[in-house]
Amino acid sequence: MERIATAEKIRLVDLGAQYQAIHKEIWSAMRNVVENSAFVLGKHVKDFEGDFAAFCNARFAIGVASGTDALTLSLKALEIGPGDEVITAPNSAFPTAEAITLTGAKVVFADINPDTFNIDPAEVEKKITKKTKAIMPVHLYGLPAQMDELEELCRTHDLKLVEDAAQAHGAEYKGRRVGTIGNVACFSFYPSKNLGAYGDGGAVVTNDEAIADKARMLRNHGRHEKYCHEIEGCNSRLDALQAAILSVKLKYLDEWNKKRRQHARYYDELLSSVENVITPTIPAKMKSVHHVYVIRVRDRDNLRKKLKEDNIDTGIHYPIPLHLQPALAYMGLESGSFPKAEEATSTILSLPLYPEMSKEQVERVADAVKQHAK
Ligand SMILES: *Cc1c(COP(=O)(O)O)cnc(C)c1O
Repeated sequence: MERIATAEKIRLVDLGAQYQAIHKEIWSAMRNVVENSAFVLGKHVKDFEGDFAAFCNARFAIGVASGTDALTLSLKALEIGPGDEVITAPNSAFPTAEAITLTGAKVVFADINPDTFNIDPAEVEKKITKKTKAIMPVHLYGLPAQMDELEELCRTHDLKLVEDAAQAHGAEYKGRRVGTIGNVACFSFYPSKNLGAYGDGGAVVTNDEAIADKARMLRNHGRHEKYCHEIEGCNSRLDALQAAILSVKLKYLDEWNKKRRQHARYYDELLSSVENVITPTIPAKMKSVHHVYVIRVRDRDNLRKKLKEDNIDTGIHYPIPLHLQPALAYMGLESGSFPKAEEATSTILSLPLYPEMSKEQVERVADAVKQHAK
């Protein structure tokens, strides 16, 4: 007989729950933008940029149209382009690699540390050539990459360090917030990110005034003054409506990240002794913001199916490693090229996690995992 799910659905993320808590402030901020006809750049974008820079403990934040653009424009601001190579991880969201290609530079992958899912500095070192210009670690799932080792490689080989911090707003590495460790950091405000807009958005964050200035020009047709275009840029401005929404949400971000951490610790506690389940490893001196909570489990697809029957949504971040994506087939990288990233692909499972989740919901998910993972 087929199982009939009766329990209430638990989503992977629930943006509606968050909206309910802040809807009055959101509408007031949106009304403000509309009534002032301040739609492009201007006060709302500037205010948010100041607030977000302060949140990261950085000097500058430049609002752009997406996280992908933040990556592309950061690389361009560093003068990276055709003939150059950028090293990154193969187990990220597709835009990580795409942004490199969009500059004309070549993507070079390095395998990951299977415990943290982040790029392995020892593997990065093997991939450095005369053409390498930058290392682009991803702070995957909200956990900072091994920045000391990567900084050291950049010093030794005269490379730039570009943080893909799209999943890590507020994460900390040895007491420093991500966004100020590399030369430049790139954030996404895609709706489901820890800080999400009601549409697309992103930011370039840096302490380097020259990079900030260049990124600011690039996002706005290469200009400082209205009709004088000093370089060729593009239109990648953060929308003022999104900036106003983000300013409201930013005030709650530390609290939301704290709740994510509490839920993650509770999952750890409930799942740590479950056979066949490996909970996330958070190295000492790192503070994850748990963009997603990822366990590793044998027979993952079966567990996923069982959880679905219990009305519990799960995700896989990500089901196809970047080097095996059809779009990158031209790179000629076959299955087996990055064994650790590939192994992760077949065992990872993202469990529901969002700030507004209740303790009971975490318990229900953990109980179901316990029951089915055997
Ligand atoms: C979301 C994401 C991006 C791209 O951000 P968009 O705002 O969707 O363009 C890049 N890298 C990582 C790791 C991401 O999670």
